[in-house]
Amino acid sequence: MATQNIVAPDLKPRLVYHFMEGEGKYGGYKRDLLSRELTKEEVKMFSCLECGGLLRESHVTSEGIQKCKPCTDVNNRNTIPFTVTDNAIEGLDSICPLKTRGCEWEGKISEVSYHLDMCQYVLLDCEWSCGVVMERANIETHSRVCEEVMIECERNCGVGMLRKRDMKIHTINSCPFAVVPCVYAKYGCEAMVERKALKTHVNDKSIDHLEMLRSENEMDKDKIFELEAKTNEMNAVMNRLKNDVVKLKEENQILRIAGYYDLSKDVLMKMIVSSYKGDYVLVFDSVSKKIEDCEKHDRDYAMKGPPFYVGLYKFHAMVVFNDKNANFIGVYLYLMRGDSDDKVPWPLKGMYSFTLLGSRSQSDNYVMILNTSELPERRHIFQRPVNTRNDGYGIPTFMKHSEVVDEKYCKNDSIYIEFKVECTAEPVEF
Ligand SMILES: [Zn+2]
Ligand SMILES: [Zn+2]
Ligand SMILES: [Zn+2]
Ligand SMILES: [Zn+2]
Ligand SMILES: [Zn+2]
Repeated sequence: MATQNIVAPDLKPRLVYHFMEGEGKYGGYKRDLLSRELTKEEVKMFSCLECGGLLRESHVTSEGIQKCKPCTDVNNRNTIPFTVTDNAIEGLDSICPLKTRGCEWEGKISEVSYHLDMCQYVLLDCEWSCGVVMERANIETHSRVCEEVMIECERNCGVGMLRKRDMKIHTINSCPFAVVPCVYAKYGCEAMVERKALKTHVNDKSIDHLEMLRSENEMDKDKIFELEAKTNEMNAVMNRLKNDVVKLKEENQILRIAGYYDLSKDVLMKMIVSSYKGDYVLVFDSVSKKIEDCEKHDRDYAMKGPPFYVGLYKFHAMVVFNDKNANFIGVYLYLMRGDSDDKVPWPLKGMYSFTLLGSRSQSDNYVMILNTSELPERRHIFQRPVNTRNDGYGIPTFMKHSEVVDEKYCKNDSIYIEFKVECTAEPVEF
């Protein structure tokens, strides 16, 4: 950051360090400022009888008593300045009142006031009112990190005097000189250009961008085709299952099989319809570049997987790099509206497991498991979807970026994340 652009207001000490008796309003010097004990003789010679401190601007009264000037009765005009004592006192060796905090300053008692204006141990409030209290010595270090500091845009775009935290927003959202990814980044354009040059880039590279859009579209078509095939397959399985159960019912075999395996009819039914298990693996390449880009630009990068079926429930997976800007990857499963939703029980019950596959051996796999029943206040997530998909369920802090890129998981800069669902459905009436 351009610290030279910081404008510093006047600093006010947080506490006033009194070096005089009478809380600084009147009286002589405090005796504990001296670096040595006074002799009995000196105590007698140098003390003010009014305030008990060391004489400051000493005056002799008509009774022959020495007092500080501020300590003499203002109505008593019969006092005479006595500079001999002043000279002796002001020459006494002194220490800083903040010696207990570590200040090693030594000087004359008359210089204490001047020293306190510079003493590095004096506590000050942050000049930018962020609430931090610090010793004077730390002001510079703090102003480098304080989010309330007023600065000018370091890219000299002409925007001046914003708080540092607002400057970050300025950089992300509006600075014409900030380097930003191309608006076609999600379709594969890797260009990073100054915001003001974005329009020109988009125009110059319009052919490339169109090509990227076209191939993305082709990929979508493939995905839809794949999905339709899977749906048909699932419907076929469903019908077979249905027919089998009807047949079993008709032949009264269910009870006989149940009897054979010593199971109740309910348990057997449950076994037939609840053995839903499925998984989907998402692969990411250029992992370190994705992480680096996200961290550098304080943004996240979400990648959505294609739909897949677990039994007759439809899902898609999602991975978010730099989730919530916290330098973690987050993993989520989304329950989607499926064609056979009227044939399965709701809410969905079961386990979601997220596994970052080990690159060398299965024993390195990193698994986190969530149980759908652990979330009673957000049960709608597992109800039959009304829209295309429900809210996702997952772990925003699945793993730190720094751990993800470890070669334990990351090989050829790629990682594999497995999303697994195990449904434990209730018996269904056919
Ligand atoms: Zn006095
Ligand atoms: Zn000091
Ligand atoms: Zn501050
Ligand atoms: Zn700017
Ligand atoms: Zn581009």
